[in-house]
Parts: sequence; C-alpha cells; structure tokens
Amino acid sequence: MFEFLDLVTLGQRKKFFKTVLLVSLSDLFNFSSIFFICWIIYQMFSPWLDGSEPEGLAVAACAAAAFMLLSYFIAVPGYRSTYIDTYRQSAAGRLQLAEHIRKLSAEQLSGLDPERISRSMMNDFADLETVCSHLLPEICSAVFVCLLVAAGLTIYNWQIALCFFCCIPAAFLILRAVVRRSGSMTDRQRKTALEASSNLSEFISGIATFKANCMGGAKFSRLTDSFEQLRKQSLRLEVTMMPFALMAMSCMGSGIGILVFAGQYFIASGTVTPVEFLCVTLIAARSIVPMLTFSVEFLELQYFAGSAKKIRELMMMKQMEGKSAGLPAGSDLQLDRVCYRYPSAAKDALSNVSLSIPAGTSVAIVGPSGGGKSTLLRLIARCMDPTSGQIRIGDPASAVCYTDLDPEELNRKFSIVFQNTVLFNGTVRFNVTLGDESFTREQVENALKTARVDFATQDDLIAEYGQNLSGGERQRICIARCLLRKAPVVLLDEVTSSLDVWNSRATQQAISSLAGSGTVIVIAHRLQSVTDYDRIIFVENGSIVEEGTHGELLALNGRYRAMWEAELHGFSQR
Ligand code: ADP
Repeated sequence: MFEFLDLVTLGQRKKFFKTVLLVSLSDLFNFSSIFFICWIIYQMFSPWLDGSEPEGLAVAACAAAAFMLLSYFIAVPGYRSTYIDTYRQSAAGRLQLAEHIRKLSAEQLSGLDPERISRSMMNDFADLETVCSHLLPEICSAVFVCLLVAAGLTIYNWQIALCFFCCIPAAFLILRAVVRRSGSMTDRQRKTALEASSNLSEFISGIATFKANCMGGAKFSRLTDSFEQLRKQSLRLEVTMMPFALMAMSCMGSGIGILVFAGQYFIASGTVTPVEFLCVTLIAARSIVPMLTFSVEFLELQYFAGSAKKIRELMMMKQMEGKSAGLPAGSDLQLDRVCYRYPSAAKDALSNVSLSIPAGTSVAIVGPSGGGKSTLLRLIARCMDPTSGQIRIGDPASAVCYTDLDPEELNRKFSIVFQNTVLFNGTVRFNVTLGDESFTREQVENALKTARVDFATQDDLIAEYGQNLSGGERQRICIARCLLRKAPVVLLDEVTSSLDVWNSRATQQAISSLAGSGTVIVIAHRLQSVTDYDRIIFVENGSIVEEGTHGELLALNGRYRAMWEAELHGFSQR
C-alpha cells in the first residue's frame, strides 16, 4: 500500500496525507449538514408525533449553512495545497526523470524508444497529476466518510446498518474481479497506444520519403494497423470493464432498497419511529454518493497506476557507475584488451583491442564499414563500458580506470562531434556555448572564426535541428563548440563523410585547428583527409589489423594500402 503511494506520489507521501486530511474534513462537514436537515424534518413532524411545537429550526438551518461554508473554507486550502504540491512534484519528477535518462549509457539509450520517453515525461506524469490532485484524495475521503457513516449507523442500530451495508462485500468482490481482469488488458492497451504513437512519429518524419517514392504514405499499413488495434483494445477494455463497474455501483446502491424494504418491519416492531426511519434513510441515501465516487474512481486509479509503473521502470534503469574520485592529470588514453558486445548481438563488435594514445597526438581510425570504428570511438567517449578489459585516462603514472570515475566528471575531458549533429532552435551563440554565459562574445567570435563559421554571426538564428543550414555548416558550428570548450580530447565521428569537397575542406581546416590544442581522434571516411595524422589505426572485424603513419601503412602493403588505392582509383580491392 505504502509502496503504491510512494509510486504515485513520487515519494511525497507526507504532503499527500495533509491533502487527504483537508479534503476528507471538507467532505465530512459537507456530509454532516444532512444531520441538521434531519433535525429540521424531525422537528417539523413533532406536532403530529408528541404535540410539541417545533424548536431550534432556525439554529439547525444556520448550523447546516455554517457546515457547508466550513466545508468550502476547508476545501479551498485543501485543493490549493493539492494542486500546488501536485504540480510542483510532477515538475520536479519530470526533471528528475530527465536527469536520470541523461545519465544512462548510450547502450541503454539506444534501446529506448524516444516516443516512450516523451510519453512518460508528458502523459504519464499528467496521469499522476490527476491521481494525486483528484483521484486519491477523493477516494480516501469517500472511504473516510463511508466508514464514519457505517460506524454511526451501527452504534444507532446494527440491524439497520447491516441492511444498508450488506451488499458492500459483494461490490468489493466485483471491483476486485474487474481489476484482475482488466490488468493485462490495460497493459496491452497502453502498449498499443505507445506503438501507434511511435508509428505516427515515424510516418510524419517519413512523409518526404513516401512522396519521393510516389506512395503518398497510403501504404504505411503499420500505422493504420496500429490505430485499428488501438481502437479494438480501447473498446474491449471499456466494454469489459463497464458492465462490472455498473454491477458494483448497483450493488452499493441496492443497500438503500433493502433498507427501505426492511423499514416496514423496523417500524412495525417499534425499533424506530417512521420519522426516525425517514431521517436514517436520508443519511444512508446521502452516503451513496461517496460510495459511487469510490467505485468509479477506484477503477480509474487502476488504469492510471500503469503510468506510475512506466515512470518507475525508467527510473529503475541502471545508470553508469563511477565515483567522484577526481579527474587525473593528463589525458593519455590506454585501452587494455577491450572487448565489447552489443546486448542484442551474437558476437563481439570489438575483441581484445589494446591501444595507447599519448596526449596531444592526432589519431585517425579507418577501415571498412561495420569493422568497429564507431564502437571504438564510443567506448573511448565512455558512451558505454567495455564488456571486458579496461580503459584508463591520465598521465601513465596516475592513470585512472574509466569505471572508477564519475561519468559526468570524465565528460570534462572530452568534446565530441557525432556524424548526426544536434543543433537547437536559438542563436549561433547559444548553440556554441550551449547556454553557458561565462563565455565572452570575443571568445565565441574566435571559436567561430577558427572553425570557419563564415556563413553566420553569433547572433544569427538557427532553426530547430539546424534545418536552415547545410551539413557542413552544422558540423562547423559543432566544431566551434569543441574549440570553445577546450577539452583535452576531441572525438569526431566521420564528420566529413557526407560533405561536398568545399564544405569538406573547410571542415578539415577547422579540425586541424582542433589538433593544435590537444588530442584529436577522428573516424575518417576519406583516407586522403588523414595522411598527415600522427597515427592511423585500421580497424576490421572488431580488431586493429594495422597501425602506423600514412607512409608506414603504405609500406606495409596490406589492408590500408588496398583501401588507399581503392579510394584513389575508385574501385574496391577487398
Ligand atoms: P563501423 O563504425 O566501423 O561502421 P560499428 O562500430 O558501427 O562499425 O559496428 C561494429 C559492429 O557492431 C557491426 O557488426 C554492427 O552491425 C554492430 N553494431 C553496431 N551498433 C550496434 C547496435 N546498437 N546493436 C547491435 N549491433 C551493433
């Protein structure tokens, strides 16, 4: 129970209890006004009952009004605190989740559907807002009021209480059966909704491709199928749950019928007077409302609880390990018998790679596609940890193993430019500094100049994902980012592979300016762009098969030379 509460209140159980208390008190005062109404009815009948004059009518009416007012004044701070706390909690929860996801390894991130993350961030948290601000306080308050009525009626007359509440156990059994039955259906419906949403995103981003192939998207049956599945499953869920929910509600309501039926015996036996019985029936009828609220909202709660589970699943994903041991001096890199296998793969993408990269050198990783170049670069950037073996960083005397370092701290040693650059909607300056206002205009200006960003000033605007720039322009802005950060190790993943010759030359010049300030490790597509590098590593089938300078590798007359000649003469010698 408490675990469930922690799950849906995101660990803010205490604040939630305060809200429940205020909402329950408010509902109780609201409910209690019925007692004064009963008193008024009783007094109005008194001339016929015992010949006495009605008394206290005005006082009872004022008390009823006062209780209603009191209920309002308690409800206002109750709901205000509910809303304020709920929305504050969910904003903090969203940030917490974003922070958690940010710290996941690239391996885990690559297995996560972005649609799944954004649904959890927006929809699942919105569901929890509904749970915390409405469902849970109202359910708890309904239970509280019903328990008080049950206790009061039992003390007054246990036979009457039994008549009224005898169907409640049956209603609970039905609700339990619905919850059990709907559990797997709810999960399936949620899964299908997520698939439909992923397919929709895929379809929208692929519209241009569909059009280019004269298909107009009409044959994207995955999307229509998933919408159809969603329609069927949502309908099945409603159709399955609704009759049971109505049955449970009827069961709760039928207590009043049994009470009215049994009333004639209670009156005939003199257990209660007709007026007393009328008042009891009024109070009982009034308590049907919280009971019905309970049954409807209890079922809704089961549906929304799935959202809490989804958020929890994401929060339980293991982050990369490492303590804050302090970064070592120097940035020499040492890979020692490193192996890596992707979780879904049957064989290693890299096996027994040993490599040493002294600080300040320029290294090019080359080789055929699928050989393991990107995997090697990602391991060096600690996007993931090796399956076996070690990577160390720092001066040889004080080098520290990656897994002993806090990943956030280690990040300070690297600047990375990936093939698919990410630019944000904002100024060039924002994209270069990433919002770090400590950089002066002059520093940004210099970085842009060195990275050959001659097509825009730092105040020019960039559209989302850099859509208003060419591939080469986007790359150069990312290189300016690296230049500004002055990280000791710069990693570049085939940044010039898709660029035309002019863009490629400008980008190469920008990369050369990086090489002057620290270690540069690039994955190169064109061998001609790396002939002057200190070291070239030829990676094939997950191993380093050759390494040396351009001249040394040509002299070896091996795989590198074959690739070089294929590039020069435009044919494959594989
Ligand atoms: P390269 O960069 O040289 O083209 P990669 O390092 O990308 O090669 O890939 C090396 C091997 O690992 C390939 O066989 C590739 O299919 C596999 N691989 C790459 N990424 C993944 C992944 N996310 N999951 C499973 N296998 C992968």
